Amino acid sequence: MERIGIPFHFKEEHFEIVAPEFLIPTIEATIRSVLPRAQFGTGMKLTAHYKWEDDSSLPLQVGINLSETTPWVYSDSEILDPVYIEVDRKRRIKERIRLGVQRVLEERFALSTGSWGILKGVRPTKLVHSLHDRGFFNDQIEFLLQDVYALNSEKIDLLMDVVERQRNFFNPSVNNPISVYVGIPFCPTRCSYCSFAAYPLKTHGHLFNDFLQALKSEIEQLGALIKDIGLDVETIYLGGGTPTTVQGKDLSELLDLIQENFITDNTTEFTVEAGRPETLLADTIGILKKAGVDRISINPQSMHDATLKAIGREHTVKHVYEAFSLARDAGIPIINMDIILGLPGEELIHVEKTLERVFNLKPDNLTVHSLALKRASRLKKTFEQEFIAHKQGEVMARLAREVALSAGMVPYYLYRQRHILGDLENVGYAFPQTESVYNIQMMEERQTVLGLGGGSITKLVSPDLSLKRLVNPKCPASYSQLVKGGIKPKIDQIRKHLVV
Ligand code: SF4
Repeated sequence: MERIGIPFHFKEEHFEIVAPEFLIPTIEATIRSVLPRAQFGTGMKLTAHYKWEDDSSLPLQVGINLSETTPWVYSDSEILDPVYIEVDRKRRIKERIRLGVQRVLEERFALSTGSWGILKGVRPTKLVHSLHDRGFFNDQIEFLLQDVYALNSEKIDLLMDVVERQRNFFNPSVNNPISVYVGIPFCPTRCSYCSFAAYPLKTHGHLFNDFLQALKSEIEQLGALIKDIGLDVETIYLGGGTPTTVQGKDLSELLDLIQENFITDNTTEFTVEAGRPETLLADTIGILKKAGVDRISINPQSMHDATLKAIGREHTVKHVYEAFSLARDAGIPIINMDIILGLPGEELIHVEKTLERVFNLKPDNLTVHSLALKRASRLKKTFEQEFIAHKQGEVMARLAREVALSAGMVPYYLYRQRHILGDLENVGYAFPQTESVYNIQMMEERQTVLGLGGGSITKLVSPDLSLKRLVNPKCPASYSQLVKGGIKPKIDQIRKHLVV
């Protein structure tokens, strides 16, 4: 069998699963996570079994058999530790089964072992935070990450490092202070890899004015609610889309309104994503600065003109340089830059050059994304890209990490995405004291975030960290309609959550 050197197998394979009923969904999901085209019913036989009596002091025994592979067996006595409760024990059965299934598939299809083991979720940090909350010590957590979740040592170190730093930013209450997110779902053009709420101005510009009116109305209504309850707003974040597609008088009026309604005595961060550098003109930067914006993102993604053209961005590297120096000269305190690993046509040498050019500019934050292609993106995942991304992805990510660390930055937030190329992760680096608090609160879901505008999500967090989401429509026309029709139901739900 040809060894393809990546942790996925793309051919259609058929399986007959023989296992206790409650384990079938777990087994199917695990198979699909490495064999996305797997079919179930008849085919090669995969048998899973476990032995464990509830009141037994004997270890948990798990076994997986797949035709033409060595049977996988495991005896787990660590789970007998009294620190674990009933729900942990039930979860451990599934975790061991997932690991076993992954191991036999690796052998059967000659796959390489993924660095993130069986942790497939978007927020691996949450698992570590929850273990900390329960009083587990670092060495116990590291043991679990290695033994149960099968992470490699590099990812364990990264995860532990990020989590330790983030915990300094958690507030005692999840509902005061809160954060505010404002979504502007317009962009100059649509990048080929984009799956966000991003409508090109050229085709959807006619919806812009109505959208802005609706947004102002939502800002006023939610602002009144916050004042009425007497809440503090810790951070404000304008994202999208590209918020700086709003320009001139429209932009200053919008930012003034945000200031008036959301800035409180304890607001520590006001970010505007100016992702597309061609939107960041001198006049625009002046408006941002005057409105008290203290963090912006200028996102080159790549510092190669050919790549920028290939991914449908209408700016060049020169625009990035210009926007950056305008922002620096204007005295915007914190500038973040985003880059993406695994862009079409790019290999290690391109990433090396991009990092060199980015760091010559001396940004305060660097966010390193790995390309993730969702259904909504025009660019589709190809085997060649997957192969390059996996072969070089780890090396690219390691290089970015080394460059950021040697410049004195630290990793402070991390998340993964479905369909991420090369089984990698996205990491935010920052010089100490320049970390984006919004990014931490939003990603870790330890703080209520009110979402306004197109495609935004309000996350109402309860003290037990359970979550309720209220989603605004992505489409600017539907959003304007919604606000025109009245947002009392949304306001009532938020009030009910915040007033205890
Ligand atoms: S700038 Fe960002 S939001 Fe806009 S189209 Fe490109 S990826 Fe999407």
